[in-house]
Amino acid sequence: MLAAPRGYCAGVDRAVIAVEQALEQYGAPIYVRHEIVHNKYVVRSLEQKGAVFVEETEEVPPGEIVIFSAHGVAPTVHEEAERGKLATVDATCPLVTKVHKEAVRYAKDDYDILLIGHEGHEEVIGTSGEAPEHITVVDGPDDVENVRVRDPEKVVWLSQTTLSVDETMETVDALQSRYPNLLSPPSDDICYATQNRQTAIKELAARSDLVLVVGSQNSSNSVRLVETALSHGARDGHLVDNAEEIDEAWLEGVDTIGLSSGASVPEVLIDGVLEWLAARGWDGLEVVQPVQEHMQFSLPKELRRDLRAEAAKKQAG
Ligand code: SF4
Repeated sequence: MLAAPRGYCAGVDRAVIAVEQALEQYGAPIYVRHEIVHNKYVVRSLEQKGAVFVEETEEVPPGEIVIFSAHGVAPTVHEEAERGKLATVDATCPLVTKVHKEAVRYAKDDYDILLIGHEGHEEVIGTSGEAPEHITVVDGPDDVENVRVRDPEKVVWLSQTTLSVDETMETVDALQSRYPNLLSPPSDDICYATQNRQTAIKELAARSDLVLVVGSQNSSNSVRLVETALSHGARDGHLVDNAEEIDEAWLEGVDTIGLSSGASVPEVLIDGVLEWLAARGWDGLEVVQPVQEHMQFSLPKELRRDLRAEAAKKQAG
């Protein structure tokens, strides 16, 4: 059973196209701070086209172009780029930017902000950097007892966009028990793509002996998909980067396999798994699609501006 929606979300699609368009528009090398999206295959194929991935902005030579990944960056990273005289293209997903803006707004109103998310994840580092004095990261329900705030009457929670919906609500419940006046954000921070992929995998998990999720280990939403499948009835579940990582022993005694992929995974990797399974006799396919998805984002504004200018120049010339 193949889950739908699966794979690329609008934010990942935009970030990958941004790097490809930048390579076309400005020529190689184009520097990219951190993995543009958490998927090895995507990173490797962009490297082959001339993208250079760096860990820190300081590694980019002065005057070059650097693209910020879909996970977002702290304001200090923008300042570093300015100091290094770098041109920037910000491919932060608009749904991550929304959380940054909420953090800035609540910090301005002097709230203590409890950011539910994974300590050390790039998105959490970026969002925390918007208001480091006001933000405390809460890494799941067990971390709630460690939280300290200045005024229990003035506390709000926000979250990373790629968490498990169920576990986040558990954390919120635990926070609410400690802070009955805890304020909630105006709308969900867990993005539509994360929610839809979890809804789809829940539906097929209950009917699957084995669930395979294609995605990289550092992809938060992909890891959450395996966890969600296991907590919703799948007997066994594994995260694999591609078909080569599937262990044939997992198929023993299995009647039904559920398959999905994280938001940073191109469809070609799912095709590889389907071919691998078909070659072993698993060629009957049912698509399970509990939700439709139509989201699209326009390219980062710096790139749109330069593409427009280029088109105008061509027209004039
Ligand atoms: S997973 Fe959600 S927040 Fe992250 S890039 Fe995709 S749409 Fe944006």
